[in-house]
Amino acid sequence: MRGTIAVLAGDGIGPEIMASAVRILDAVNAKFGHTFETKEGVTGGVAYDKFGVHLPAETVEMCKKADAILFGAVGGPVSDQESTRWKDAEKNVILGLREKFNLFANLRPLKVWQGTESFSPLKPDLIAGMDVLIVRELIAGIYFGPMRRYEVDGEITAEETSRYTWKEIASVVRIAFVAAQKRRKKLTIVDKANVLETSRLWRDVTRFIHAEFPDIAMDFMFVDNAAQQLVRSPASFDVIATDNMFGDILSDLGGAVVGSLGLVPSASISAKVGSASGGNARRFGLYEPAHGSAPDIAGKNIANPTAQILSLAMLLRYTYDLDKEAQAIEEAVLSAWKAGKKTKDLAAKGEEILSTDDFTSCVIEQLQ
Ligand code: NAD
Repeated sequence: MRGTIAVLAGDGIGPEIMASAVRILDAVNAKFGHTFETKEGVTGGVAYDKFGVHLPAETVEMCKKADAILFGAVGGPVSDQESTRWKDAEKNVILGLREKFNLFANLRPLKVWQGTESFSPLKPDLIAGMDVLIVRELIAGIYFGPMRRYEVDGEITAEETSRYTWKEIASVVRIAFVAAQKRRKKLTIVDKANVLETSRLWRDVTRFIHAEFPDIAMDFMFVDNAAQQLVRSPASFDVIATDNMFGDILSDLGGAVVGSLGLVPSASISAKVGSASGGNARRFGLYEPAHGSAPDIAGKNIANPTAQILSLAMLLRYTYDLDKEAQAIEEAVLSAWKAGKKTKDLAAKGEEILSTDDFTSCVIEQLQ
């Protein structure tokens, strides 16, 4: 298969872990006879230095000509968020791309592979078998509604509005039902329907769409209980679908339960289906690690590239429908770990520690 992937490495460890993912893509091309090519674009601090903005029009245009975006991370040190170079870098780039490409649903797989239970802070018997997919609505709800700050009788007051349309909920819920069909056929809608009207609308929409998917077992759970159950009984979930804010919080909680954020990939799926570079219909998406730019470890060749590599696997699976290739990458990462090859964040006391580059070489060896 042929295709063009826009590569936006970004800041901090972004370029290091992206270099790993591109090496893996080359290995996939060689093993499976594909010709996927990459086109590089600038974002974040590097883009600001060159163009005076974090998300230049040139980069957006280049992405429009690609089938998908493989994204690294953007942003400066947490202690330097107010300088002009870094102020709002993450917001400008991430929210900008979500809006420009209508990336309406975020998919975050949280999987504990056999033999990797020790990465989790939870007891091994509790975490064993965890394999959850969180489907989060991404471009509506409380993060996108009107918000303001004002004074009432001298009292500073702030407010925001959460708003959902039937259509916005339906698009996301349909993605979740389809995903559940390819998995263990169970969908949990997480909400706060005992308090919020938007949650009650989510329930109505989901009950309506459930009629199209009679093979899926569907249930509802309040978000406070879901947070508890993700820690007490993480293996009991299959697919979770939820709104923007609940999804934001639960997917980070889930990342912590799995172990390092350096392990967790994600896909933000667009409504756009079609190919910019010819060939079959392809679903546009942006694929990125769950973690940030980790400026504290940037340039040291010690970052864990796993989330970036698994983001590439998701890209092959969701944009190009190449499940076999995606699975081969996932299995290669798992085999590398099983052979005791780990980066600093995962290695137990006394275990060998591999650099980003060396760990990537081990994954490529397993892939071949
Ligand atoms: P972070 O995720 O970058 O780092 C948190 C901690 O996890 C750090 O100690 C870091 O060293 C470690 N870590 C993260 N990824 C790792 C990896 N692959 N391997 C090993 N260790 C890893 O979060 P932060 O420190 O709060 O934010 C740093 C910058 O990243 C900020 O500017 C923030 O705005 C930005 N950020 C960007 C994105 C994005 O681009 N999507 C997401 C989150 C944060």
